[in-house]
Amino acid sequence: MAYRKKNGKDTWHWCRNCSNWPTSDYKEQQSKPTSGELCNECKAKDRDGDCTK
Ligand SMILES: [Zn+2]
Repeated sequence: MAYRKKNGKDTWHWCRNCSNWPTSDYKEQQSKPTSGELCNECKAKDRDGDCTK
């Protein structure tokens, strides 16, 4: 599962259906980020089982 963060931002996303999922100018990594913030929308989608990974 991939985590993406828009360059210049501090929030990591992991749901492709997140409205803020970065599609350009982003950094991607496969492991859980150890710095920065985790997206609240991704968290909510994950909790509701609505997260497309
Ligand atoms: Zn997100």
